[in-house]
Amino acid sequence: MKIICIGRNYTEHIKELNSETPDAPVVFLKPDTSILLKKQPFFIPDFSENVHHEIEVIVKINKIGKHIQPQFSHKYYDEISVGIDFTARDVQDELRIKGLPWECSKSFDGAAVIGKWISKDKIQDINNLEFNLQKNEEIVQKGNTSDMLHSIDALIAYISKYFTLKIGDIIFTGTPAGVGPVKADDKLIGFLDGEELFNIKVK
Ligand code: ZN
Repeated sequence: MKIICIGRNYTEHIKELNSETPDAPVVFLKPDTSILLKKQPFFIPDFSENVHHEIEVIVKINKIGKHIQPQFSHKYYDEISVGIDFTARDVQDELRIKGLPWECSKSFDGAAVIGKWISKDKIQDINNLEFNLQKNEEIVQKGNTSDMLHSIDALIAYISKYFTLKIGDIIFTGTPAGVGPVKADDKLIGFLDGEELFNIKVK
């Protein structure tokens, strides 16, 4: 399986990182080794002094697809959750300045937190869905899928132009504003539509 991630999909987050708004979605990949195993803490890697949390809505592909038309995208996933795209911001900043790929800052072991999956049928409106991240009992990131520059269905259509989507692939749909550093002993809890879907410790 593969993880396809979208960058710069919320205007307020683009502003906080002083990035430019792209015409097309920004796409990068994480390997399966980046998935944080269930019930494991997240260990801050020794190559970074500034690892940030990025909570994101994620969807799981349930059908093989290539060149998917946006009006059919909804047939290619039936589970949704939230996850964290952990980012070594100091490493990423260096790579960005040099115009180099981001993978070492975002695709390292443990950099992909996957929450508990919930059925899409339980969701009233995928395009108006609240989610948030709580760090040590304080809400640090809050988002709504209605603020996405590219909707989930638009993203699936776009991604499948380049990559064949296979069963079990996961899409990270971008983070809203409020990204920030994590430190040892932090506790991170992710919510989608008021439901707790992950709960991890930082070490
Ligand atoms: Zn992200």
